[in-house]
Amino acid sequence: MGNLELQKELDEYKNKLQAKVPRITKVMTWSQEYVKVEISITKFRTLIMTLRFPDRYPETNLLVELTSKTLGHNLLFGLSAQCEDECKRSIGEVQILRVIQKVSKFLEEKPLCCCAEEISNIKREILKSDDAIVLKQKQSSVNLIARQGKYYYDAMFCVPDDYPEAPIRNDLNATNFSTAFQKYFQAQMTEIARQCVEPPLNKKKASHTFEKRPSLFPAVKFLVESVHRYVNEVCCGCNNKGFPEDPVNVIDESSNRYHVERLYCGHIFHLKCLVKYMKTPPFQGGKKCPSCGERIFHEKYKVPPELEEARWAHKQARQRELDEVTDFFS
Ligand SMILES: [Zn+2]
Ligand SMILES: [Zn+2]
Repeated sequence: MGNLELQKELDEYKNKLQAKVPRITKVMTWSQEYVKVEISITKFRTLIMTLRFPDRYPETNLLVELTSKTLGHNLLFGLSAQCEDECKRSIGEVQILRVIQKVSKFLEEKPLCCCAEEISNIKREILKSDDAIVLKQKQSSVNLIARQGKYYYDAMFCVPDDYPEAPIRNDLNATNFSTAFQKYFQAQMTEIARQCVEPPLNKKKASHTFEKRPSLFPAVKFLVESVHRYVNEVCCGCNNKGFPEDPVNVIDESSNRYHVERLYCGHIFHLKCLVKYMKTPPFQGGKKCPSCGERIFHEKYKVPPELEEARWAHKQARQRELDEVTDFFS
């Protein structure tokens, strides 16, 4: 194609482009050597598209190059390959507008493209064969089901427009874990996501330069690993599994003797086993988790160790007194 013809196409298509996708495209260069356009849906769904005209264009395909500060390398690579395929299918015709529209449509219709890399890492590093992830592009959300044995936790992660500057939001679809664990999973995921975008309140830690980071991967990692872990986690008191084999038998009443209690260190006790352990010496230095040695703080068990020790001593003394007089009753 001669220079004049190409120039004609360029002029014509620049006008068409401005008419068709004016809101999201910004022309940066529009020359006979190459066309460079920025396509931006949100701050993070933004890329720069460079189209080079080979000598025999349009008898050969445009060369497409995509770059972005926010979108992952693999995604851009795949998308540019798709663009070149599209160009190859339209050899002999003009290709510029077609590929720009293709990419604009992709960015508009695939809001999850801003976490494409995180999603592949989740699939590769975290999920096991029973777990499942489903992308809901229309709702800009990721549906994730973590499974272990007969237990499951079905969560929905909403990815906001200003992700990853804003954190993901997690919602519960359904689960057969106890209410206490469901609340713990949810609260913990919210906290993990918050920490990804808010500097620590602790001034000492905050003095390091804080950088916001994507929160989908860490929140999902926590959830999936916790579901896998807690189904098989053993009670520190009786060494039996905390949760029953069949989730229909899960105990939800928090005062039930077999209700599963989670310590701050992450280890678990049945309520009855925790109470027994807390009432048994040694008390020196406070009761510690038998698994990891961390001091036990538990909201259901606020009796200070000194008092517990005094009670223990009292009970022992009483027993001794009784033992001393047993002879009299025999
Ligand atoms: Zn137990
Ligand atoms: Zn522990």
